[in-house]
Amino acid sequence: MAARWDDSAIAEAAAALRGGRLVAFPTETVYGLGARADDPVAVAALYAAKGRPRFNPLIAHVADLAAARAAAVLPPEAERLAAAFWPGPLTLVAPARPGGPVCDLARAGLPTVGVRAPAHRLAQALLAAVDVPVVAPSANRSGAVSPTTAAHVLDAFGPEIAGVLDGGACPVGIESTIVGFGPDGPTLLRPGGLPRETLEAALGGRLRAATAAGRVAAPGMLASHYAPGARLRLDAAGQRPGEAWLGFGADPVAVAAPALNLSPAGDLAEAAAALYAHLRALDAALGGEGVIAVAPIPRRGLGEAIADRLRRAAAPR
Ligand code: AMP
Ligand code: MG
Repeated sequence: MAARWDDSAIAEAAAALRGGRLVAFPTETVYGLGARADDPVAVAALYAAKGRPRFNPLIAHVADLAAARAAAVLPPEAERLAAAFWPGPLTLVAPARPGGPVCDLARAGLPTVGVRAPAHRLAQALLAAVDVPVVAPSANRSGAVSPTTAAHVLDAFGPEIAGVLDGGACPVGIESTIVGFGPDGPTLLRPGGLPRETLEAALGGRLRAATAAGRVAAPGMLASHYAPGARLRLDAAGQRPGEAWLGFGADPVAVAAPALNLSPAGDLAEAAAALYAHLRALDAALGGEGVIAVAPIPRRGLGEAIADRLRRAAAPR
């Protein structure tokens, strides 16, 4: 299966997934590496291919709300958010439905499950064809920069995956927002492609912040993750000699190559879509070492998720 997509590529990818193989595919957030969620052997192969710790639960991707309800017991507020924002870059974490399709290993043994109906047309066609939930963490080695093109996926994986469906660049470019529903009400477990403000407007109230106790001790949530080889220097007012520069909005008067800008116009959606590809390009230009200086990113809207990913990419390894 090559990096391409048409009806026959989707049918081939669906057959490979149904047969327990791993297939990468685009979603609106980033490229996912899929495995059927009800098959512990396929899920074990997925953890192994990514080098992902097994205590880090996976998100089950579903074709629609009915499939989500079969996997999770969605409380009324989760139903409201699903009705408002699905398909889209929003993951809901709720109690797993007893006897539901998402296997224990995919949930890292938790009594809860993360479910999401992605908006990407190609992901939707694939999920409809597979007809069981598909766990699909980002298609990169654990801890590395997430992929937003099929070429990024092919940089990281070879024959251990059956193939990658190529849908071009991911339009959102940053992982889904994750909302949990504990006893205290809706909680923001991870900022992402759907801004907090948008969710809070729909809920008519603030999202709680995840406490250490309520949070899964998962790499995507803690410390070093999303990291290039180069180190990152955040909230930089300007570039120091030898550094690469990653700008946002108007650049300082003089920036030297290698330099890229997430959005010269200061548009956060454009910046999110460019984030991972720009980090990869600057890292490659530096030969995977040295320092990337990053301009300050406003913390509103999608800026909360961008700043979150940059903080983890900059964290000590
Ligand atoms: P990703 O790494 O983008 O595939 O997203 C997976 C993340 O979703 C995990 O690292 C957790 O933070 C979160 N997650 C998935 N399932 C659960 C769950 N059952 N409970 C809490 N968080 C979850
Ligand atoms: Mg990831």
